[in-house]
Amino acid sequence: MTERRWLFGDQLGPHFLDHPDDAVLLIESRAVFRRRRFHRQKAHLVLSAMRHRAAELGERCRYVRADTYGEVVRRTRDRLTVCRPTSHAALDLVRSLDVEVTPARGFATSSAEFAAWVEGRGKRRLLLEDFYRDARRRLDVLMDGSEPAGGTWNFDHENREPPPRQPTLGVDEPWWPTEDEIDDEVRHDLDRWERDGDVSFIGKDGPRRFAASRDEALHAVRDFAQNRLPTFGAYEDAILRADPWMSHSLLSAPLNFGLLDPVEVVHRVEEAYRAGDVPIASAEGFVRQLIGWRDYVWHLYWQQPRSYRRRNELGARGTLPAWFADLDHEHVDAACLSDTLRNIERNGWVHHIPRLMVLGNYAMQRGWRPSQVTDWFHRAFVDGYDWVMVPNVVGMSQYADGGVMATKPYAGGGAYIDRMSDYCGGCRYDPKVRVGDDACPFTAGYWAFLDRNRDALQGNQRIAQPLRGLDRLKDLDELRVQERERGSRAP
Ligand SMILES: Cc1cc2nc3c(=O)[nH]c(=O)nc-3n(C[C@H](O)[C@H](O)[C@H](O)COP(=O)(O)OP(=O)(O)OC[C@H]3O[C@@H](n4cnc5c(N)ncnc54)[C@H](O)[C@@H]3O)c2cc1C
Ligand code: SF4
Repeated sequence: MTERRWLFGDQLGPHFLDHPDDAVLLIESRAVFRRRRFHRQKAHLVLSAMRHRAAELGERCRYVRADTYGEVVRRTRDRLTVCRPTSHAALDLVRSLDVEVTPARGFATSSAEFAAWVEGRGKRRLLLEDFYRDARRRLDVLMDGSEPAGGTWNFDHENREPPPRQPTLGVDEPWWPTEDEIDDEVRHDLDRWERDGDVSFIGKDGPRRFAASRDEALHAVRDFAQNRLPTFGAYEDAILRADPWMSHSLLSAPLNFGLLDPVEVVHRVEEAYRAGDVPIASAEGFVRQLIGWRDYVWHLYWQQPRSYRRRNELGARGTLPAWFADLDHEHVDAACLSDTLRNIERNGWVHHIPRLMVLGNYAMQRGWRPSQVTDWFHRAFVDGYDWVMVPNVVGMSQYADGGVMATKPYAGGGAYIDRMSDYCGGCRYDPKVRVGDDACPFTAGYWAFLDRNRDALQGNQRIAQPLRGLDRLKDLDELRVQERERGSRAP
């Protein structure tokens, strides 16, 4: 009986094999695409990455196109092992199929290390900052002996600059992959499935923007470290309308496919810092995202009860409207929201701040169900997976977990968007106005959100000041009527 490693489509790097010569099983399941309406470019990227891996492995890989995983696994004569899959549903599946499961790979902190860290905290609240420092020490990343490089752990104060007064950051565009015959074949298959009415997608097809093979992923890391990492830090939290990529790495997709190991990426970043090519604030800002946030989110996904995904502490019951779900940006006047939806339609990606400050903020203000918002993010983004979307959306962006991930809701009005982006100047609304024709939907939505959730937020000291501001609003009644009438109409 041949021993074979079954690789899911997010386990594609060499570190998911025990030995470079291991025999491999890859299953392309059509049912996955039928179950949910994904972004077209996400479907393309996943299939392209799996088929590139199969081509690389050659005869050692059994590549099966089937309807479901189960029908292939039940029929196989091989003895299969699998690295712990990345969602509760996939873990249930491999267990039900009696496949041997080995520990998860592709993260910087192991489950045992995370459990030890949680236990060490006793009754103290879990905090990203403490987890991150622990990981820096343990992995010896950006450390000078026992001290953090640069003399401090956190350069957030240098990394929260508003955007510069220029249309773009002026850095080189990211390196773009060149499509090959595998991409042609994927495009052809997806066109056919769509024509046959077998599957349907959101978003537009377009040139593949993200790495789909190990070589491409390593190339993307080198390009980022050389050309955009030096300017990553300062403008990490800013948005420029004409510069969707800014200095972001675009590495989330290849990282989540397992094409890159986060530890190798932070070592590359540290090398650039040690060579004097990158300021510490940028190197630290990036390392914090990767071995801090990314791992923290992964471990919270498993550590929280399975019911976490259904949490809805603010009792949001609204339905995600079709214009939002289908990325219908042409019918949206609000410049920030329209442009963000347009970028997702084009690329299946926007960086962290539009996700949080524009999309998540708007959804929370309007009281849309967190579970629907999570499902939408999962389908619309090329890097979306269950483990990463559930904590980021339910916890970080919708505050539906009552404060496990974030100490206060990430709600902001137009003034905040105006400070951190260059959208408002070209918008038909005015971020300073909350009632009337020019009222900014984010500003009005912010006050309506606080008003609606006053009781639930009352005890939170971090929100006490805005709640006092709410008490001073003279036009609150008018604002309530206006926002009720707006309902889920496109702003
Ligand atoms: C509502 C919401 C949903 C999100 N959904 C996803 C998702 O489905 N998949 C995903 O990978 N990221 C998600 N993120 C985190 C973050 O927005 C993306 O990782 C990032 O924008 C990807 O672009 P990049 O690779 O250029 O990131 P960079 O800005 O270059 O950051 C570097 C890396 O840090 C990691 N990272 C940073 N923040 C997070 C985070 N909060 N959670 C996990 N990893 C993080 C990513 O691997 C990313 O590649 C979400 C954030 C929010 C607010
Ligand atoms: S005015 Fe309001 S809606 Fe328009 S871009 Fe600014 S924040 Fe967005």
